[in-house]
Amino acid sequence: MDSHAANDRIAQRIRAICQRVEEGRAAGFYFYNQPIEELMGGARVRVNGREMGMYASYSYLGLVGHPRINEAARRAIERYGTGTHGVRFLAGTLPVHCELEETIAAFKNTEAAVTFSSGYVTNLSVIAALVGRGDYVICDKLNHASIVDGCLLSGAEFRRFRHNDMNDLERCLRQVPPEATKLVVVDAVFSMDGDIIDLPRVVELCRQYNAWLMVDEAHSVGVLGKTGRGIEEHFGLGDVIDIKMGTLSKTIPSVGGYVAGKRELITYLRHACRSYIFSASLPPAQAAAANEAFKVILDEPWRVEQLRSNAELFIRGLKEAGFNTLMTETAIVPIICGADERAFMMTRECHENGIFVLPVISPAVPEGLARLRATVTAAHDPKDIARAVEIITEAGRRVGII
Ligand SMILES: *Cc1c(COP(=O)(O)O)cnc(C)c1O
Repeated sequence: MDSHAANDRIAQRIRAICQRVEEGRAAGFYFYNQPIEELMGGARVRVNGREMGMYASYSYLGLVGHPRINEAARRAIERYGTGTHGVRFLAGTLPVHCELEETIAAFKNTEAAVTFSSGYVTNLSVIAALVGRGDYVICDKLNHASIVDGCLLSGAEFRRFRHNDMNDLERCLRQVPPEATKLVVVDAVFSMDGDIIDLPRVVELCRQYNAWLMVDEAHSVGVLGKTGRGIEEHFGLGDVIDIKMGTLSKTIPSVGGYVAGKRELITYLRHACRSYIFSASLPPAQAAAANEAFKVILDEPWRVEQLRSNAELFIRGLKEAGFNTLMTETAIVPIICGADERAFMMTRECHENGIFVLPVISPAVPEGLARLRATVTAAHDPKDIARAVEIITEAGRRVGII
């Protein structure tokens, strides 16, 4: 770095971030990348040598380490080894990939599905394959970064509406030339706020204005709907989403992403998505684990029910203590702290008292709305949740948030 000029912008960017990291470390406020040393059944973890209650997990149904899923992964390794023979369309397709795609299509009550190597890459390449220059892509302001990146990559006109504001979505749709091709993309459950998109109204508006609808179900599968099938089941709507996108890295304890939908759409995506064509397929163990996980969800419906009651318990307790938890109705529970510093102080207080939660600060969320982004899972015992609420409440009083 020293060989670059002082005004070199790359060197400046590197220095700015490194300085921020150093300051955070010096203040004891650096919580980035803490290794989870041991996963103790999902509800507890060991971090920095200390055992804590886990309130920062995406494994909403507590499926990480599930014996059936581990066994499926082991069998796949024994049968196929750890890698594939390249990208899907050449020699990278194994029977386990086809099985996984059939399982997803059945789980999502639709004709077909296609998988990718991550959820991020799914959004990126699917949006870029569907729309291009001269088309319009319309997003909720709080959509996930991978959706935003896909919209930018596509080259389509990018419009955003106020968060979950259906009048503003209609305004956006009205402003687009009626003959233009339109794609509306929304999160089912918003990843920083935990609230649910008004899907019935979004569907109506998309039909009225002749727009395609893509919904990201990263935090919806396993979480919403009586059997965990997601947002359409939650609203009792049937097959109303054109492009049902999801990840295999949250409720499904693996890695990868997918789109489920009509057969012709899926055929098109297999031939048009650059990440499908130019990037290797999922390793066999991960594909087999994901495949088994969808089956476990259907075989163990108590997990979905337990998650729902745990989330209700946690949200109610925090609200009664006086915290602002925004509009969450799901397992993602924002605990608003205000300035970044307060979120860091809350995090430290919680860790010291055995609760593992993590802060989210700007630019990931708006300035002044820094928060703990707490989550509950089906693996938690209601008694532990009640205790966690007490600890967070005591921390909130010490930090002066409530
Ligand atoms: C996590 C997440 C993704 C990305 O999924 P990965 O499989 O982790 O790449 C996409 N969308 C949303 C809403 C997410 O929360």
